[in-house]
Amino acid sequence: MNVYDSQVAAGLLEKAGFEVIREPESTGDPKGPLSGGADVVIMNTCSVRDHAEQRVWGRLGMLGVEKKERPDLILGLMGCMVEEHGDRLFKRFPQLDFLIGTRNVRDLPTIIGDVGKNRAQAAAIGKSGISIEYSEFTKRDSPFHAWLPVMTGCDKECTFCIVPKTRGAEVSVPADKVVREAERLVSGGVKWITLLGQNVNSYIGSEKGNSFPGLLEMLCHIGDLERISFTTSHPSDATEELFQMIAKNPKISRRFHLPLQSGSDKILKRMKRYHTYGEYTAKINRLRELVPDVSITTDIIVGFSGETEEDYLATKRSLEEIRFDGAFIYKYSVRPGTPAEKLPDDVSPGDKALRNNELLAIQRTITDEKNRENLGKVVSAFVEEAHPERKGEWFARTDQDRRIVFPSLADLRGKFVRLRVIALRHETFLGEVV
Ligand code: SAH
Repeated sequence: MNVYDSQVAAGLLEKAGFEVIREPESTGDPKGPLSGGADVVIMNTCSVRDHAEQRVWGRLGMLGVEKKERPDLILGLMGCMVEEHGDRLFKRFPQLDFLIGTRNVRDLPTIIGDVGKNRAQAAAIGKSGISIEYSEFTKRDSPFHAWLPVMTGCDKECTFCIVPKTRGAEVSVPADKVVREAERLVSGGVKWITLLGQNVNSYIGSEKGNSFPGLLEMLCHIGDLERISFTTSHPSDATEELFQMIAKNPKISRRFHLPLQSGSDKILKRMKRYHTYGEYTAKINRLRELVPDVSITTDIIVGFSGETEEDYLATKRSLEEIRFDGAFIYKYSVRPGTPAEKLPDDVSPGDKALRNNELLAIQRTITDEKNRENLGKVVSAFVEEAHPERKGEWFARTDQDRRIVFPSLADLRGKFVRLRVIALRHETFLGEVV
């Protein structure tokens, strides 16, 4: 979602006459100033974990130092930290010039203009409307792939999660509007769309396509749209109907990301996840039965309030039992204003780190073993871009959303190819055209 919002912001600013420069890290001058010499720096922020916020505080500090030497430098924040902290941010960081709420991306050019003119702090933080902006100017990374948010916000009550506070209640874009936007993207050359939402599968559109599977079906009818993926799903809305829709539509990506969070029923209840471990695995088994080539990935939190050694071992067992294709494993951090803020944060940082590291190692082995099962197989992959260094080599993504590099004399970008997986280099497959 943040990547999409940043692309919209960059597009709107370019349209208004600004030039978007590359990040200093990617310009070969990583020791240069963080601003990369830009006149305006905007950080798009995430509040979901404390770590993400800490990085923003750190960078703001560095940019503040730069601003002392270059007082004309304009600094702004957008995204969820703005929703979370509001204009208290101006007190904490007097060097900040502007704040843009998640529903105000369109106000960026104006607010930067105002700050430049008046040299006074300014904020646009709207509380009504939807934080999804469709714009023809969106500055996408790829001519073939586009992100497409279809819903935002969250009506679930996971006790650890700040999203309901920062993104508000669930709001879906009407299905006909989503389809029109998808058609517009496809007529501009897009072949692959990733639908986005905090709980994308809780989508509720208009009469037609009034559920997420219904929306998927409508999108599958767009002739030149070749692949549809989506993220992130919540287990309680991962229904038989959705699985059936994936099974019967080869256009729908064979990667399914379904956060488990914990393997302990006690912890799942404390997190208010609305499912038990048994219910979760029943869904996974059914999905694997209907879509045998599906790749399933997950999110895990270790060290949530009340997590005993026994609860942790249940999560460890769940990774070994389910054998996910990949997992993001996070250490729990208390988020302000969440229901779990009132619960004791009673797993020590040391134990969180131990549990996190152990699960990461277990998952790495499982991912590697599962990757190796692909050696020798023929897969369908979508060619995305040329290898930046090696001429004649190309990056593609398999139907399971895995990266694969292959050599070809022809430029096959934007096309699907059939590749045999011949080797594995770290997490990337090497393939050859068959
Ligand atoms: N809507 C998704 C969550 C998306 S947030 C869902 O319901 O599962 C992405 C991931 O961040 C979550 O799945 C969770 O694993 C992690 N996360 C969220 N809040 C967290 C917190 N307070 N501490 C640590 N990890 C957290």
